[in-house]
Amino acid sequence: MTLVQETIKCPFCKEPINARATICKHCRSDLTALKKNKKSVVARYNTFRTGFLSGILFSLIILILWLVYQYSDK
Ligand SMILES: [Zn+2]
Repeated sequence: MTLVQETIKCPFCKEPINARATICKHCRSDLTALKKNKKSVVARYNTFRTGFLSGILFSLIILILWLVYQYSDK
């Protein structure tokens, strides 16, 4: 019976570590933060899209208010 351990290189100290490791045994770097960063790209895009849509909505409200002000004054 052979114990196969999949190893990856630590992105911080370049030492071989277990692929499933959450903390590097050599430099004690948190490897879970890297995995979270990959997911947050999608979250960042969603935040950008939400901000973009609310920006358009806000501009439309300002435009409508400006138009109402323009026509009601005359
Ligand atoms: Zn390390």
